[in-house]
Amino acid sequence: MTDQAKWFCAEQLTDNIRRIWEPHVHRFFRANLFHVIGKDADLIIDFGMGLAPLRPFLNIDIGKPVIALATHVHADHIGSFHEFEHRLGHAAEADGFAGMEDVVTLAHLFRELPQGVEQKPEPSFDQDDYAIHEAPLTTVLAENDTVDIGVSLYKVLHLPGHSPGSIGLLDETSGIFFSGDAIYDGTLVDDLPGCDKSAYRTTMRRLRDLDVSVAYGGHGAPMTRERMRTIANAYLDASAQR
Ligand SMILES: [Zn+2]
Ligand SMILES: [Zn+2]
Repeated sequence: MTDQAKWFCAEQLTDNIRRIWEPHVHRFFRANLFHVIGKDADLIIDFGMGLAPLRPFLNIDIGKPVIALATHVHADHIGSFHEFEHRLGHAAEADGFAGMEDVVTLAHLFRELPQGVEQKPEPSFDQDDYAIHEAPLTTVLAENDTVDIGVSLYKVLHLPGHSPGSIGLLDETSGIFFSGDAIYDGTLVDDLPGCDKSAYRTTMRRLRDLDVSVAYGGHGAPMTRERMRTIANAYLDASAQR
């Protein structure tokens, strides 16, 4: 049995950015969540599996506005999305957030996974019953939209390929880039339902040339610009040979 308050782990990345993850979830579904503390609002990027309540763990100042932004609609990123009132995501996945069907969230892959969690989030947890709450978008995003939290202004980059509505968020002043599953330091996925290898190659060319100071991926460790470029080039080389 796991104390729900201890379901998540967190580390401080910068003065105002925390990375959060679910240590007891199978590594295939163990994603990065980010809490960016702003002046006017806090920004939460991605929401884990939804196996334990996320919002209480975040300790957000009472009354402070919260912007919840999902990088894409896969199960490992949107489980606790419904806990937030103001929900942002890309237009191409708006129907997915509203319906949370397996075909877009891929939640069935988690249900079918042997030992999806190494500890139960609560005693009655049954992996076979795993389901995701519907969380319709309240703001539909497109390329070049901005998200303003007072201390940082993030630009939305539409980065399809891993999924149709994958987005990244770039602060062009600091160079901090949240890349979701478009790119991360680990095995990239381009062969699930909804993936588009041709679109992914276009996205990788864009990422290869993107000027960032650091990239925080949907999985794995932070990437330097050089590391991100190496990963993008490796993908382009490998996919050219297929
Ligand atoms: Zn994904
Ligand atoms: Zn993921």
